[in-house]
Amino acid sequence: MSTQSDGLAGRDPSAAPDAAQLCELRPGVYAWVQPDGSWWVNNAGAVSGDGETLVIDTCATARRTHRFLTALGDVTGGAPTRWAVNTHQHGDHTYGNSLLPAATVLIGHERMREGLRTDPIIDGCPAFWSPIPDWGRVRRRLPDVTITAAATVHVGERRVDLLHPGGPAHTTGDLVAWLPDDRILFAGDLLFAGLTPLVFMGSVTGALTALDWLAGMAPEVIVPGHGPVLAGGEIDRVLDEHRRYFQFVLSEADRGLARGATPLEIARDARLGEFADWADAERLVLNLHRVHADRAGHELDLVAALCDAVTWLGHPMPTSV
Ligand SMILES: [Zn+2]
Repeated sequence: MSTQSDGLAGRDPSAAPDAAQLCELRPGVYAWVQPDGSWWVNNAGAVSGDGETLVIDTCATARRTHRFLTALGDVTGGAPTRWAVNTHQHGDHTYGNSLLPAATVLIGHERMREGLRTDPIIDGCPAFWSPIPDWGRVRRRLPDVTITAAATVHVGERRVDLLHPGGPAHTTGDLVAWLPDDRILFAGDLLFAGLTPLVFMGSVTGALTALDWLAGMAPEVIVPGHGPVLAGGEIDRVLDEHRRYFQFVLSEADRGLARGATPLEIARDARLGEFADWADAERLVLNLHRVHADRAGHELDLVAALCDAVTWLGHPMPTSV
């Protein structure tokens, strides 16, 4: 057994890298679903047709990305990955970019590109998480093609619309991949199915607005950025859960700010209620920092926010990446 596996001893085996699975949603449309979806353990996807493939996001580590690309190559008969798109800048969706073939054209929102260009965490993860993630042999690889609003990639007979929600939501440079003919939506981190949503590098009100934008597409299947694939009635249920969570964050923030409380103090007084069972609950502190910064009209201090999340939790944030 490898050292990396040994490092997972005692952790939930259902979140191990080999628990990830490639699910074929329609012929040639794939979701790479990685349990348990908590910190740094993301979902990705792909669309393949006429001997070419579009990859939607990579993974945080070389090991997880290699597993994804190998599984994809097996089902597509090694069809070349002509394009790839990053749904946003975060490392769980982008650090594996350098494992894509050199010839792959990588697409992202222009602010996503800038975010990854200046991301310090790929160069060495700080001790906010435990165990401290080891990304493996990855290097920063930025999009070759940037967009600001929309673009369409034609994969064989299928059209894949890459769409920006119109403002900050999960981050400032989000894209979704929408397959209008199949009504399948790769939502990136605009949705976390069954896990605490994270919007501290975007906007809580923008994330709320983006939910209506997603619902307006009337998707039949959604691949969220984290958590299981959603279909049918699960979609409205998860959208409503997100709405209630973001309203909860906004109301807690406004009540706390009215009495001059800090984000950490507000989080300590808050009752999570129906959201208490979601993994990564400490994101409440990060999301409150975002409201606080937006209300005060200043930049969010990422390090201070992450320090407060660790303080609220009482220990570094757990990860199975
Ligand atoms: Zn993210």
